[in-house]
Amino acid sequence: MAMGWNRFRKKKDMPSGLWTKCDQCGAMIFKRDMEKRYKVCPECDHHFVLTGPERVELLIDEGTWIEEFAELSATDRLHFVDKVPYTDRIEKTVAKTGRNEAMIIGSGQLGGRPIVLGVLDFAFMGGSMGVIVGEKVTLAIEHAEREKLPLILVTSSGGARMQEGTLSLMQMAKTCNALGRFDSAGGLYISVLTHPTTGGVIASFAPMADMVLAEPGALIGFAGPRVIQTTLKQDLPPGFQRSEFLLEHGQIDRIVSREDLKEEIGRLIDFVKGPVVRAREAKVAEAEG
Ligand SMILES: [Zn+2]
Repeated sequence: MAMGWNRFRKKKDMPSGLWTKCDQCGAMIFKRDMEKRYKVCPECDHHFVLTGPERVELLIDEGTWIEEFAELSATDRLHFVDKVPYTDRIEKTVAKTGRNEAMIIGSGQLGGRPIVLGVLDFAFMGGSMGVIVGEKVTLAIEHAEREKLPLILVTSSGGARMQEGTLSLMQMAKTCNALGRFDSAGGLYISVLTHPTTGGVIASFAPMADMVLAEPGALIGFAGPRVIQTTLKQDLPPGFQRSEFLLEHGQIDRIVSREDLKEEIGRLIDFVKGPVVRAREAKVAEAEG
């Protein structure tokens, strides 16, 4: 897969050395080797977290991406203050990431196929879902429905954004409602769960897909293992809440390595756009007629 991976490698991400240490296996890795593999450790296959823009670059053909609603930014309706006012937190995060919210949506081509893509960026307040994230997920779903395009959503999230209280929890119902309409209209939704996908995001739009893919070793679950262990007063099985565990227990459809992700999604779209979409479209036409 030829792609201009280096375009997103900013100078500030490349401090003094050419080497970095893997979080998982502790190996010293030549950074260029890791970047060639889209931030996957060449020694142990550990998948490092990608930023939102890196994820877009991984999946979308160069020069075809059109981002939408990038101007929408979080609002502080509850005038929430924890250690610092929420507005200060937003301002700092916007300055740090250069983006207005944790959700990136738009359209482009995936291996020559037009798609609508939404990516949750963990670098922006832990990819948490507030009102604007919920709105942007919904706008992406509606775009895909209007244009009859496959919808791909990639998640990495700590869950609902606590600074937006109940308003953030309402996004769970809102996004699922939009997906319900999309499904009735015969839309195709492929979800990609990446490390970590938790809380209100895994409890709403993330797993409500026709096909649920996950990257290897990703932490996926509602409450964290420590909370569950304390509540149940029981030891948890090894590998609990990791992609491999979920696959074994039938909660996801497939684990796909980052290097194969673009090709695999393309293959799935081609497969589903055949008989499945035709059958659904016939069903919709019958219901309408
Ligand atoms: Zn490693």
